[in-house]
Amino acid sequence: MEYEPVIGLEVHAQLLTRSKIFCGCSTAFGEEPNTLICPVCTGQPGSLPVLNRRAVEFAIRLGLATASRIAPYSLFARKNYFYPDLPKGYQISMYEHPLAVDGSIEINVQGQKKKIKLIRIHMEEDAGKLKHGETPETASFSYVDFNRTGVPLVEIVGGPDIRSPQEAGDYLRKLRALLQYLEICTGNMEEGSFRCDANVSVRPKGQKEFGTRTEVKNMNSFRHVEKALEYEIKRQIGVLEGGEEVVQETRLWDPNQGVTVSMRSKEEAHDYRYFPDPDLVPISIDEAWIEQIRGSLPELPDQKRERFIKEYQIPEYDAEILTSTKAMANYYEECIRLFPEAKTVSNWMMGDLLKELKRDEREIEQCPVTPKHLAEMLVLIKKGTISGKIAKDVFEEMYRTGDRPEKIVKDKGWVQILDEGEIEGVIRRVMEANPKLVEDYRKGKDKLFGFFVGEVMKATKGKANPKLLNELLKDKLKG
Ligand SMILES: [Zn+2]
Repeated sequence: MEYEPVIGLEVHAQLLTRSKIFCGCSTAFGEEPNTLICPVCTGQPGSLPVLNRRAVEFAIRLGLATASRIAPYSLFARKNYFYPDLPKGYQISMYEHPLAVDGSIEINVQGQKKKIKLIRIHMEEDAGKLKHGETPETASFSYVDFNRTGVPLVEIVGGPDIRSPQEAGDYLRKLRALLQYLEICTGNMEEGSFRCDANVSVRPKGQKEFGTRTEVKNMNSFRHVEKALEYEIKRQIGVLEGGEEVVQETRLWDPNQGVTVSMRSKEEAHDYRYFPDPDLVPISIDEAWIEQIRGSLPELPDQKRERFIKEYQIPEYDAEILTSTKAMANYYEECIRLFPEAKTVSNWMMGDLLKELKRDEREIEQCPVTPKHLAEMLVLIKKGTISGKIAKDVFEEMYRTGDRPEKIVKDKGWVQILDEGEIEGVIRRVMEANPKLVEDYRKGKDKLFGFFVGEVMKATKGKANPKLLNELLKDKLKG
């Protein structure tokens, strides 16, 4: 039987406000544990939360950018559960009245546009962080760091519209790009500012009803999300084919073993005993504020892609990749400002540059080749100082060392030979060394031309100007 996976993703994104959602403590990452805390975010009796307006504005930005409906009335609720990283014994979240609903995010599936529905976007506070034996001093203890407690989050609940791990990855990349374009989240998965849980089930292809789902947690990179989903889909199919039933539960991805393991049976909403938080008034958002925020939105990925196609006359495929992150789009535009040949720049970025970054698993922000250096190299090709072929080596050197292309070309002696006399000299030597082949060529073996080109290139280490070499060689071989 053929099975089809059904995947829905829940993403938690930390908002880039300077202070926490209900108090004035800093949201800085990586500070000494328990230095960014106060009575409010540690849940001291008698302390009262005050909502951070900027956090609401950021959440509205995301709502508008995903074509969600911003609720005129939303409400914070208490989600009650006990865990040592949650000092109040409840998390302030939204339940019945989320901030935004019915949005969508568009992804590209094999050349077709596909909309993934966003059921809701709601705001909540982050919990603290437990540390178990991460250093020798803490080997036999568990510690808790409350610095993260109260950092504002948005939870983005996607519909069960995703049908493969690849689509899940594309959706997450698009969502993260959107958050970064909006400048409301760093999107850093390793630091936990962008976290994803997945609801996964499988069903026989063609069946309408969903199968029993599991929730997979603890995936802290895009690669892990795709791998964990692949594993979990296979596991569930295996369970069903073995004649058993999938158990509804929460499972943890173990990146070292490459498996998901059962963590606990899945809670239902009623386990959390939600009720409206009596310490916070309802949020009422008027049209004027929404329009003001709408007016301040930056150019978003889809708009930028369309503009790139029109303004720079590049193919949609190029534009899609070049706008996939804001940093990439900025790199591209910076480069064509200095070297205004849009398709040439795109070819180098999509080819050599992305290949190197992918191999090193680096983001473009960490690219050792600056837009300025890439543009300088393209100028060298255009002026004829280096050939397109040598440029590949120059680029590799630039990537390895971060040096300017002029310096590399000079140090390595990679300047293209444009001197006719010098190329003629090499041609003469090659012909003298192969008298029999010269004779064969002259008798009509045209194919040997390539051999002579190759020999001259070998002798000049690829530096002979190809056009000049062709002309001179034809002339000399004629006799
Ligand atoms: Zn605080």
